[in-house]
Amino acid sequence: MIFETQRCRIDHIDSPLLKQKNINMAVARLDQLHPVVSGNKPFKLFHFIEKAKKENKKRIVTFGGAYSNHLIATAYYCKKSGLPSTGIVRGEKPETLSHTLSQCISYGMDLKFISRLDYTTQEIDSICHAFDIERDKAMIIPEGGYHPLGAKGAEKITNQIADFDATHICTAVGTATTLAGLLEHKNLNQTLIGIPVLKGMNDIRQRLSYLIGTEQFEMPVIWDTYHFGGYARRDNKLIEFMNRIYDCHKIETDFVYTAKMMFGIFDKMNQDFFPEGSKIIAIHTGGLQGNLSLPGGTLNF
Ligand SMILES: *Cc1c(COP(=O)(O)O)cnc(C)c1O
Repeated sequence: MIFETQRCRIDHIDSPLLKQKNINMAVARLDQLHPVVSGNKPFKLFHFIEKAKKENKKRIVTFGGAYSNHLIATAYYCKKSGLPSTGIVRGEKPETLSHTLSQCISYGMDLKFISRLDYTTQEIDSICHAFDIERDKAMIIPEGGYHPLGAKGAEKITNQIADFDATHICTAVGTATTLAGLLEHKNLNQTLIGIPVLKGMNDIRQRLSYLIGTEQFEMPVIWDTYHFGGYARRDNKLIEFMNRIYDCHKIETDFVYTAKMMFGIFDKMNQDFFPEGSKIIAIHTGGLQGNLSLPGGTLNF
């Protein structure tokens, strides 16, 4: 994949607040690396696809919701890798497919819809059986790449930001796979900060332990009050913030992940969390396609 050799844009943020606090801040634009598989997703997928090729798997099977950045990235990545893919979609098939799901189909992904109940309660084996998928010939990728292999791929994100020499690395947290990858590869003197986009996510330590494969690690700083009510929830304050960030800094954010991260960073900056002289890097993990689910005209971009 292109992201192995390519380096993402680093956008430096210039603002009176930053000057006043003597803080340096930049956004690592992983979202700009590629028009389709942008952000953190190709990093998380990398080792799964390599393993599938090596083990001669005939198909990639993965999971997600109707607006899933992970599904669309998997569909595209598989197409590029010459691997057939199946996406197990949470919820009954809607009359009109979301933009995300239509894109998945256009990249050749075979979509299978299952009820929300079955999605959360059925074993992978029985799901495969129900859809006539040969389990042993398929590479199963858990939703969001939540697996040690996903975290191992996410480590490569560190190369993208190495030149900036940050004191603080910030990322949005969904499954915590990206957070785990960053944690394994950061320098000792860097502070890693995770901003969960789900409400009441209180199992991050256990998740990291599973993803890294040890109980021995330095727990990242977690800011758990910027979820705006829960996954994919939003309010006018968040939308106004997104428009302001775009108008002032020309940074497009998505309302599910990166806007919540940026909101948290600025809020904490106002509360003087960051010492003078800090160098903050915010990882833009992508996901902009998700904004297409907002009513037209909501955003200035
Ligand atoms: C999937 C996703 C995340 C969450 O990453 P995890 O590794 O699951 O924590 C963050 N930002 C964007 C834009 C995403 O699409």
